Amino acid sequence: MRLIKDAKRLTPFLILSLYLLLGQSALLAQQISEKFKYEDRTFTESTLLYLSEISVNEPWEDSPKLQFLLESEPPKEWLEKRISYLIPGQKTFETSQMLPLMSNLGAKLYSDSKQRKETPLYSLEDHFLSLEDNKLVINSPRVGIVSVSQHYFSKENKISDTGDKEADYVSMLSLLFHEARHSDGNHESLGFSHTTCPESSDYVGLKVCDASYNGPYAISAEVLDHLISQCHSCSDVEKEVLQLMYFDFQGRIINDNAMTLKKKNEINDIQNQLDSLYEEKYYKNQAPVQNFVSILILKRKISILETRLNHLQNTELKNNTYWDPTPEYSDISI
Ligand SMILES: [Zn+2]
Repeated sequence: MRLIKDAKRLTPFLILSLYLLLGQSALLAQQISEKFKYEDRTFTESTLLYLSEISVNEPWEDSPKLQFLLESEPPKEWLEKRISYLIPGQKTFETSQMLPLMSNLGAKLYSDSKQRKETPLYSLEDHFLSLEDNKLVINSPRVGIVSVSQHYFSKENKISDTGDKEADYVSMLSLLFHEARHSDGNHESLGFSHTTCPESSDYVGLKVCDASYNGPYAISAEVLDHLISQCHSCSDVEKEVLQLMYFDFQGRIINDNAMTLKKKNEINDIQNQLDSLYEEKYYKNQAPVQNFVSILILKRKISILETRLNHLQNTELKNNTYWDPTPEYSDISI
């Protein structure tokens, strides 16, 4: 046991030595495009190496929710199965208004090609990645191409003052795990697409929410929550910012218990009814000749309304929709 603990402690040093010996890219399962700016590429590599250092080969302990979401797989392996190539954001995305900082291009290419009933080949030639013929067969959402916008690496999207600290790796990892979930699913759950946010959300009307409790936002939120607790060099301010990110992600999971305008009106209505019943009860209690039966009926009415009010006021996250993460593969031959 002692030996295992020592080995665990030594792992970051072993990784660092290997890193110096082999060059960092050799340690990464993911291929990172040469088209990234040098510092953006280095930052991405450092983020992935950070994951190797902290996750070794076991599922993350002390987080049953995360273990469930990652199907008890070690997090590094889980991510590697779903993200194989990281490339800079496409120019077309850069000009769009809602600029995605990251996007699972592989899942999008797959669902587009599925609609057109064809299996396309996708060229990664421009990115200098080692691929046979530089062509990928897009036959599953698991093809694993994720684009990262240049804007993501800008100062305003970083957590720490230098933009290259543990807090920044934590933040990027939570987004990568989010994108990785888009590589999952079949039929209705294909790509774990986002849903339009309901009235109760800060993002009402935008397609940036999840209908299921095991979607990309649940994964990014739980990964973040776990990594914040493990982040030794994070300052209090950095932890606070990461926590705000966590709440934002959590808020994007559709909550069947969330407060809506309809609920607010109903609460107001019940509160008014209760006020008049409390008043009625007060006067009945003061009356010289008491009618116990009518007081008991009144009490019963009050208790029913109070239970209903408590139920409406409970806004804790409740979502029972599970989406099947098994990825689909097309059998269309090329
Ligand atoms: Zn997403």
